[in-house]
Amino acid sequence: MAQQGQLVVYYGCMFAGKTTALIDYISRANLKPNELLVFKPGIDNRAAKNMITTHDGKKHECLSMDHETVLNDFITPYTKLIALDEAQFFNKIIFSELKRLLLKGINVVAAGLDKDYLARPFGLMPLLMEHASELNALNATCNNCGNAATHTYRKEGNKVLVLIGSENYYEARCEKCYTEGMSAKSV
Ligand SMILES: [Zn+2]
Repeated sequence: MAQQGQLVVYYGCMFAGKTTALIDYISRANLKPNELLVFKPGIDNRAAKNMITTHDGKKHECLSMDHETVLNDFITPYTKLIALDEAQFFNKIIFSELKRLLLKGINVVAAGLDKDYLARPFGLMPLLMEHASELNALNATCNNCGNAATHTYRKEGNKVLVLIGSENYYEARCEKCYTEGMSAKSV
């Protein structure tokens, strides 16, 4: 029987370097192109549709997944690693597929926001984190005080949840500055 694959998860708030960590992980895996599948959610239209990119200019080719995409259609006997960027936006339905692939010995690495700007568990991420064989927390720097940040704080004047890579709308904050900001808003 094939050995169970590893599920490696990188999580944190915005600006925590999650995509950078994902790309570094992919590079270290040192795979042939046909052994690797990289996906981002179709909703992410920051840059070219076939590229994941970081704030500091790293990039990697990828496929775009929308809700009609069936992961299994891309799997070949050569597939060794599946990488998911912005994993919070993937449909929870794919989790059962991922579990099946892990059982086949395929490794999965995912990076995403563990919490949305209201500190609610975000999409597929809680499921991935719960089942991770390796869980890596990444911090950003608090925009307000410079301490380690774990929260994505939405600045004023924007009501839309799904905004990716939008420095203009969101900032990273530590627990204390996040809580202070949120309670000031609700007054
Ligand atoms: Zn702070």
